This record gives sequence, structure tokens and C-alpha cells, in this order.
Amino acid sequence: MADNDSRSGARYTTPEILAFVDRTHAAHDASLARAFAAPAQHGMPAIQVGISEGKLLTLLTRLAGARKVVEVGTLAGYSALRIARALPTDGKLWTLELDPKHARIAQDNLEAAGLWNRVKVVIGPALASLKTLENEAPFDVVFLDADKEGYLDYARWAHVNLRPGGLLLADNSYYFGKLLDNSPGSQRMREFHAFVGEHFDSVCIPTPDGLVLGLK
Ligand code: SAH
Ligand code: MG
Repeated sequence: MADNDSRSGARYTTPEILAFVDRTHAAHDASLARAFAAPAQHGMPAIQVGISEGKLLTLLTRLAGARKVVEVGTLAGYSALRIARALPTDGKLWTLELDPKHARIAQDNLEAAGLWNRVKVVIGPALASLKTLENEAPFDVVFLDADKEGYLDYARWAHVNLRPGGLLLADNSYYFGKLLDNSPGSQRMREFHAFVGEHFDSVCIPTPDGLVLGLK
């Protein structure tokens, strides 16, 4: 159930409620805590997904029965760890990262979690890396969380390279509150939404940042 306020976007979340549901449903073990803390510790931007969004990635990956997943935007490997945890032992996550320092720290965190054999960190601009992954298609899940200006191109790639029934996921789809602005970036993000709406069975889940889910 909802009411007029919550249907219009008002939130009943408080920091205390969020902390309660995070620890009740999505608690960190040592490996997750390490990966989550890494950006702040290593002078990287602390822009990893939230704790509950991370757990949502785990559950969606499980629900999709995913064996092959692509993530665009690794940072320190927190969301990669959340996804990789949902894969069977012979499953594989390719996570794409432009910044070699981020990739190295992510690799350390994934090794510490014992998941290194299930995850490959691919260094370079994502669009070029995606090209090299086409021979591994079809994929079960594609998760977008890197440069927002690239989302439309990444979504086009996902539409071609996902299996029927596969999932496209995209974080920050509210574009930090600027989705309806007049800037070129906002326009491009709206084109991304339009593309997904047209080519997938889709929704933008109203997480704080907006998480697009598209079923191919
Ligand atoms: N998914 C991560 C957060 C990713 S932050 C998590 O939730 O834990 C976004 C990352 O995308 C940054 O590490 C940034 O370096 C990377 N990035 C930005 N532009 C990119 C590009 N063109 N190709 C690949 N990675 C890119
Ligand atoms: Mg994000």
C-alpha cells in the first residue's frame, strides 16, 4: 500500500530506518565491509551502491539464474562482490573499469573474498571492452554504473548481447536529480530511458538514485 505522498515520491526512509533494514536484510560480512570501506580509505570517490541496493543486485542475479554477467563500472569491487556472490561456482562476472588504480583495488578486494576465479576485472574504456566480450554472449545480466553519458550506448550493446529473458540494470537513472534538465547529459539520459522503454519490458525502480530494470 502507498498514499498520495509516497506515490508522488515522498520517502518514509530515515537514516535510522535505513540502517535498521540494511543490517536486518543486507548485513556485511568482513569481505563486504572491506570492499565497502575501500573507496574512502584509498582516496577514491565513495560512489558505490548502497547496502540495500547491493543486496538487491545479489537477489536479482539469483532470480535471473545468472551464470554470465557484465558490470560496467567496478570502482573498488563492492557491487561486483554483491553480484559474484550470487553466481554458481562455474559462473562468471566481467567487470569493466577505466581507472587502473580502481581495478587493482577491486582485484585485491575480490581476491580477499575468495571470488577471484569467478570475476575478471577488465581495464579500459567500457565501450571498447564490451566489443571484446561479444564472443562470450549471450549474457544473463548487464549492470550499468559507470559514466552516465555512456548509458545509451551500453544499453544498445546489452540489448544485442543479453539472452531473451536477461536483465538490464542501471544505477543512477534519476541522473542525480537532473534527469529533466536541459543539459546534453540530461537529454542523453532521457534517450537511454526511452530506448529501454521501447526495447525491454522495463521499470525505473524508485531507489534513491533510480534503478532501471529491463527484461529482454
Ligand atoms: N559499481 C560500483 C561503483 C562504480 S563507480 C559499486 O557500486 O561498487 C563508477 C566507476 O566507473 C568508476 O570507478 C569510474 O572510474 C568508472 N568509469 C567511468 N567511466 C568509465 C568508462 N568509460 N569505462 C569504464 N569505467 C568507467
Ligand atoms: Mg551508481
